[in-house]
Amino acid sequence: MNLQNRVEHVSGLVEQACARSGRSSADVNLIAVTKYVSLETARQVLDCGLAHIGENRWQDARDKWEALGDRGTWHFIGHLQTNKVKEVIGRFTYIHSLDRLSLAKELDKRAEAGDMTVRCFVQVNVSGEESKYGLQPEEVEPFMREIASLRNLDVVGLMTMAPYEANPEETRPVFRGLRELRDELNGRAATREPLTELSMGMSNDFEIAIEEGATWIRLGSILVGRE
Ligand SMILES: *Cc1c(COP(=O)(O)O)cnc(C)c1O
Repeated sequence: MNLQNRVEHVSGLVEQACARSGRSSADVNLIAVTKYVSLETARQVLDCGLAHIGENRWQDARDKWEALGDRGTWHFIGHLQTNKVKEVIGRFTYIHSLDRLSLAKELDKRAEAGDMTVRCFVQVNVSGEESKYGLQPEEVEPFMREIASLRNLDVVGLMTMAPYEANPEETRPVFRGLRELRDELNGRAATREPLTELSMGMSNDFEIAIEEGATWIRLGSILVGRE
């Protein structure tokens, strides 16, 4: 399948998952994860009309951002080292991996210096896998209180990654858990602004994530391919 065919294929699957769960596909935003592909392929992704690009390491994203930065909205989806914040601020509109206070403070400081705000997702380790980054669910509310005074952070929602499952249905409790956590935080007005967004779902499991309320899905292999 070429890129255009994959985009159409994935859009169809998104529509079907939305139909199954009574959602509008307008509420599900697609991030094309270009970390496995070349600059040329990333350019074709934008040429196809996709607007959101995801990368998980600045070192790998740099060439693509320098060539294409003004053509899309960039999402930093990987673990973010504090010493890379200065590269990412002003280039990536969204950070999906806010997982500690020191990172929040550095993002806020650099954003303030640049007279901007940075949109963040707090990453949560819902599955409890040791190999995964993110706060434990019970740590999220105290963390939200700690960062509430950081005025240049705009926390829009929560992000999680499910373990790879041969049967994607088994990821459902992870995605449901993230949605329930968001709803609980909103019910208790635990954040400065209500959390509207859920960043969850990858190539293997995005249909389940959509059924459980994902508003941003991050797709690499199924959409952009691997080179
Ligand atoms: C690589 C990556 C993705 C995309 O992975 P695929 O399974 O290829 O869709 C999504 N989210 C994060 C955080 C990633 O690192």
